[in-house]
Amino acid sequence: MVANPFPRLLPLAVMVLVISTGFVDAGQLSSLAPQPNWANLQPYQNTITRKEFTRLVDQVYSPDGSFWKIARIDNDKVTIFSDEAHTQPSLFTLNFASSDTTCAPLPHVYKIKAVSNDPTRPLKGLKIALDPGHIGGEWSQLEGRYFKLGDDPSVEEAKLNMITCDRLAERLQADGAQIIWAKHDYEPTTHLRPASLRREAIAALALHPDTTKRISDEAAIERMIGNEAALLFYRVAEIRARAEIVNKQNPDLTICVHYNADDWGDPSKPSLIGHSRLVIFVNGAYEKSEVACDDIKYDLLRKLLDRTAVQEERGCVDVGQEMLDTLKYPPEIYPGGYFARHVTDLPSVYARNLIANRLYHGPVIYCEGPYMNARDAYPRIIAGDYLGVRTINGESVPSIYREYAASVERGILKYFGVK
Ligand SMILES: [Zn+2]
Repeated sequence: MVANPFPRLLPLAVMVLVISTGFVDAGQLSSLAPQPNWANLQPYQNTITRKEFTRLVDQVYSPDGSFWKIARIDNDKVTIFSDEAHTQPSLFTLNFASSDTTCAPLPHVYKIKAVSNDPTRPLKGLKIALDPGHIGGEWSQLEGRYFKLGDDPSVEEAKLNMITCDRLAERLQADGAQIIWAKHDYEPTTHLRPASLRREAIAALALHPDTTKRISDEAAIERMIGNEAALLFYRVAEIRARAEIVNKQNPDLTICVHYNADDWGDPSKPSLIGHSRLVIFVNGAYEKSEVACDDIKYDLLRKLLDRTAVQEERGCVDVGQEMLDTLKYPPEIYPGGYFARHVTDLPSVYARNLIANRLYHGPVIYCEGPYMNARDAYPRIIAGDYLGVRTINGESVPSIYREYAASVERGILKYFGVK
């Protein structure tokens, strides 16, 4: 934890004014996003037909139809606007290919089939990025990814993710893959810190229209700004920094590794729940408020035009099925109308627009492992990593980290067509 992280106080009146004014204008960007460089999408001209573009928008990226409010589609092109009224100059126009056979080649092709002719190293020639979720270390409590039950070892999600990724990396490297690490320690990848994000936190709060209703006094405002600055640090700035590292190296596939949890309340007196569930995410199901931001419009188009949706769905089914079969927890069930939308025939696969699966270029498989605070997973999690098997709750079981890693490796081999 950091002492006094917000030394540069703005006068209260200025803060209230800034917060209540709001910035919901055309040209709006999401927090910490750079102005998108639309020229980067020029190489995608004529790479997709109108039919396939429409299918991907309707079925994957914007099932609620928000995208069509900021776009105008003609027979041969689609034009993207900043605002729903289309009063601002357009941001970008994409020309469609007239048929599947006349599509121009994509500017970058992510390998989706093994290229090795060495059967002992079937993933040779492939680059796989690993993103162990969260920062951890001294930041784990600020991230809200830490709890400790009585005298048991503490549970810190970043550590569980890192152990799992280490075991996964060993397996993938033995298979011949080159590993790219989004981060590989317990330090932030971003150079930004909560204390340097105060102004951005105030701007971000201004985007929530109900913010002013929640303001009661100066202390409450300070708490709100502090929480928002922390969130911008560990969620937005950190993932942006990781994406910059990973995208420079063009991996063929990116794997994000997490453990799920239910609300555990007070981290020093956490509550455990009964059962764990498994979920895995493809990028998609952008919401109206997200599509309103110009940078997110750009990210959506880049994901769509890279044609990663088909690969992500296939990969999430391959990995998700292995996780269900191996770890033997049931699939997550989100209610209808939730921010995540069920896709594919596998019950644990959902489309969701997460900053990580949006910003990493190429196909991303975002895994949520067992619940850290579920009674059917917690004893295995605090047992730590070990070789062989141990008796836990009367059952002889391997390390949960190795089991998770082994299931993801098998899914990845399947994804690349390795028998
Ligand atoms: Zn997580």
